[in-house]
Amino acid sequence: MQQIKNFINGEFVDGIEGKTFDKYSPVDNNLIARISEAGKSDVDAAVRAAHAARRGAWGALTTDQRVDLLYGVADEITRRFEDFVAAEMADTGQPRHVMTQVFIPRGAANFKVFADIIKNVPTESFQMPTPDGRGALNYGIRVPKGVIGVISPWNAPFLLMTWKVGPALACGNTVVVKPSEETPLTCTLLGEVMNSVGIPKGVFNVIHGFGPASAGEYLTHHPLVDAITFTGETRTGTAIMKAAAEGMRDVSFELGGKNAGIVFADADFDAAVEGISRSSFLNSGQVCLGTERVYVERPIFERFVQALKAKAEGVKFGRPEDHHSNYGPLISAEHKQKVLSYYAKAAAEGATIITGGGVPEMPAELAAGHWVQPTIWTGLPETASVVREEVFGPCCHICPFDSEEQVINLANDNDYGLSTTIWTTNLARAHRVAARVEVGITWINSWFLRDLRTAFGGSKQSGIGREGGVHSLEFYTETRNICVKL
Ligand code: NAD
Repeated sequence: MQQIKNFINGEFVDGIEGKTFDKYSPVDNNLIARISEAGKSDVDAAVRAAHAARRGAWGALTTDQRVDLLYGVADEITRRFEDFVAAEMADTGQPRHVMTQVFIPRGAANFKVFADIIKNVPTESFQMPTPDGRGALNYGIRVPKGVIGVISPWNAPFLLMTWKVGPALACGNTVVVKPSEETPLTCTLLGEVMNSVGIPKGVFNVIHGFGPASAGEYLTHHPLVDAITFTGETRTGTAIMKAAAEGMRDVSFELGGKNAGIVFADADFDAAVEGISRSSFLNSGQVCLGTERVYVERPIFERFVQALKAKAEGVKFGRPEDHHSNYGPLISAEHKQKVLSYYAKAAAEGATIITGGGVPEMPAELAAGHWVQPTIWTGLPETASVVREEVFGPCCHICPFDSEEQVINLANDNDYGLSTTIWTTNLARAHRVAARVEVGITWINSWFLRDLRTAFGGSKQSGIGREGGVHSLEFYTETRNICVKL
């Protein structure tokens, strides 16, 4: 069993109060790590270390020096690739290929991409006339915001945490990260990487713990935290926004979703089935961008339901390192209870269960893990709980539609607005529908294809602000204008 410590001012330390909590494997519920919980004074020490580093060693570096160090971080993650893969598999129980192909390489890329962006994106400049004819020149300079509080979730822990830490550091800020209590391992490992490449002490800090009355709340209320970037549930975002109001701190929020998939009858059928299957079931449905509402044009509805059923029934449950498995458990016993309670609600509200709806039979050594079946429903009204609320599990409701106008209204009839995936071979229609769906990210004939230079964020209750590319610079820096009378 591993002992996991906080990482404060370049040192791995236990919390001063001596409190710990346990991390159990999602796969078999065995104890895998004991984590030191940061108390109020530990969080204070981490924030003060970040504040000092911002004004000291980190602030003294040129952009080029910072960029070189961040390239070093990415290279060191790549060198220790297997350590990160193993840690992330242990934390999440998700299959090895998801780690090796997506989560860990993209995590490393987050350091390089934003280092390149800060080096290459110019600031604005305006010349203006003045009454005396001499004119004036305005130009912007970017300055770091200061200490950034980073609060991240458990569903793609390393990817989502580095997505914030990479640009924050590239812009010259320092960070205090509170990873999810469910997934503490890779964030802690990143502390080792920071030390081995020579990132100055205090630039990157990790505090472990929970939200309310624990490390998360202490961090968001700390007066020396200058801005907060958060990914997680919309309800948690509301609590953090209240904390950020004290002292007028800026926030960037990536929140929940209840995303619609739209399949027109003219779609490439097999590609659409494959795409919706991935978007509903990848990572056992624990992807904020995943599809839990599928709308299929009536002529292909029955055929589509049967094809997706076959995909759902084809998943291979197993340990992450097992090359024959392609499907993992849910993150925790608590989350499994939540997902199963939605499965029960769907049945109670009259759903036709096309497949799944319960717990799979697992071999004895995995029986205590948090396994649930991929599940497909049809026949529910749009008011049903599993059609309106985010389940965050491997499930979707499929509903037929008859017109473009109707499906746009169905897709938009939800409080969330994170992403959508549209499947059609009619190019004009694809663009038309994409422009009218109220979400931050639309994919056409694809899903989860991410270019880190593009805007990422949610509409409606799915978020505030945009990150990615220059949009990250907007959040992680302040632009100051300098006006020179000529
Ligand atoms: P969560 O909101 O429960 O927890 C996220 C983080 O916030 C954790 O580190 C947690 O400890 C911390 N936290 C909880 N309460 C807090 C408080 N009062 N103050 C400070 N910190 C607090 O979310 P989760 O269950 O870890 O993640 C799943 C959710 O995240 C889903 O709703 C999913 O849609 C969303 N998500 C969104 C995106 C996106 O990009 N929009 C990406 C991934 C996940």
